[in-house]
Amino acid sequence: MTAPSVQPLRRALLDRLLPPVCVGCGASTCGGTADLPAALCADCHDSLAVPMPVVCRRCGAPAGPHATENSRCPHCRGRAFRFQSVTCLGMYEGLLRELIVSGKWSLSAVKVRTVAGVLAAARRGRLMACGVDRILPIPQHWTRRLFRNFNAAQIVAREIGQVLGRPVDSGILRRARLTPPQKRQTLRERAALQKGSFDVAGTGCIQGKSLLLVDDILTTGATCDEAARVLLKQGARACHVAVLARVSAWAS
Ligand SMILES: [Zn+2]
Ligand SMILES: [Zn+2]
Repeated sequence: MTAPSVQPLRRALLDRLLPPVCVGCGASTCGGTADLPAALCADCHDSLAVPMPVVCRRCGAPAGPHATENSRCPHCRGRAFRFQSVTCLGMYEGLLRELIVSGKWSLSAVKVRTVAGVLAAARRGRLMACGVDRILPIPQHWTRRLFRNFNAAQIVAREIGQVLGRPVDSGILRRARLTPPQKRQTLRERAALQKGSFDVAGTGCIQGKSLLLVDDILTTGATCDEAARVLLKQGARACHVAVLARVSAWAS
């Protein structure tokens, strides 16, 4: 293991040899500052860590300019989610959407970690309010890892775990089968596609615990709802959800 005192030296040397480049715009970040990761420039940091709009606490959708968090939400009215709340680190728009759409993230887990770390710190108060004991990323089926060598949800979960000081368990929730990509299906079709797609290993760790399910993008909530159903059935006390980016509207 490297001695702690060597880390700043190694970092300074690496910064000199390979000047860090902003993951948002490609500009040199000049080594960053104490409270800003070296891989994100100040402008991109400010573009990402913007104040969140008022969102529905239950589903995370924007609640409209005149709404409060307790207003009736047109997006989830009449839907019975198994999870109790959704915390969005960001909305699927602006720079965050550009980063995801551009496909840059398939090249490097560092980019996901940098952005997730900044946003998890910015939403710390909201995440703390969930009062969770353990954090579980939504897993990928093993065949998907053949095409992408990291699971973005797992990286986001680790960053949230650091901010909250809670353990991240990646082996408890598993993909029982491969589900087709969710693109043009209705809410009902998406829920049917997810049915039976998860199983749980090591149920002792979740008995009576409040869990935070973490995914990279949330559209309808069907994936997290199915994961919550399985975990509650296996003895979890409550499930909350946190996502890196929330799509603000979907087909119904
Ligand atoms: Zn930048
Ligand atoms: Zn809602």
